[in-house]
Amino acid sequence: MTEFKFGYVALIGKPNVGKSTLLNTILGEKISIVTEKPQTTRNKIMGIKTLPNAQIVFVDTPGIHKPRHKLGEFMVKQSYEAIDMVDIIVLMVDPENPKEADLSIIEILKKVKIPVILAINKIDTVAKKSLLPLIALYKDIFPFKEIIPISALKSDGVEKLIERIIFYLPQGNKLYPEDMITDQAERFIVAEFIREKIMKYTEDEIPYSVAVDIERWEESDKILTIGANIYVEREGQKIIIIGKKGERLKKIATEARLDIEKILGIRVFLEVWVKVRKKWRQKDILLKSLGY
Ligand code: GDP
Ligand code: MG
Repeated sequence: MTEFKFGYVALIGKPNVGKSTLLNTILGEKISIVTEKPQTTRNKIMGIKTLPNAQIVFVDTPGIHKPRHKLGEFMVKQSYEAIDMVDIIVLMVDPENPKEADLSIIEILKKVKIPVILAINKIDTVAKKSLLPLIALYKDIFPFKEIIPISALKSDGVEKLIERIIFYLPQGNKLYPEDMITDQAERFIVAEFIREKIMKYTEDEIPYSVAVDIERWEESDKILTIGANIYVEREGQKIIIIGKKGERLKKIATEARLDIEKILGIRVFLEVWVKVRKKWRQKDILLKSLGY
């Protein structure tokens, strides 16, 4: 009989390296939102993977960057907190020479004593032969326990990564039920799905000026009615999100609803309102009331 393992793994790395994509690939379900824009993930999100020989709790982090506002500060704090509570760290990087942002995270890792695995992501975008010199370079910078090239998107190398994670996990029993894949409340995931669609259909500063708050949640046996407020900072942003004749908002709401129906397995009636809350990012109190 082999021993059962249990532990927490932080996924860290600069914004946009594919942390949320990896988490979704590992879990086989979308629990963390993914966009082409950096700094999509705002909170720590836990994803639970239960295997015959181990239960791994992944902590997806917002990504470490220099904060420019209160929300940014919160996001960075969440990332550091994640480092404090885990058994293993997986640092994700792009398949290219390390940038300033990667190096400053590695500086922080020099102070931790737990195993650090490097996952070089997005290898589907580069030639195989460029990987060996890159691996050698990273070996020189930090004593990574393992360096594993992966494609989170194509699910390439992900099994190997999991196998190595389990190797370094401490022995322990399951803490969560087998069918539980995330600690996130359904409401939070629903709000995140809506925010993801807004990020998809808007440009410039709007994606970062949006908060979504679920105000109404009423379940009957056949349909779930959800009412959501989309908070923006300026009137102009509201007009853009709504779009000509409400078309953009309709597209956002429809796509979000389809995702929500898929994950919750129930028909959903989704109502959304766009509201202006001046400078919500700077306001601690409003941030708290929105769950950040
Ligand atoms: P995060 O900010 O680190 O959580 O990054 P995301 O998971 O949100 O991903 C950022 C972008 O990179 C998205 O457009 C993803 O589709 C893309 N991406 C993630 N993993 C891969 C990969 O393995 N290959 C490619 N080509 N793109 C990826
Ligand atoms: Mg993310």
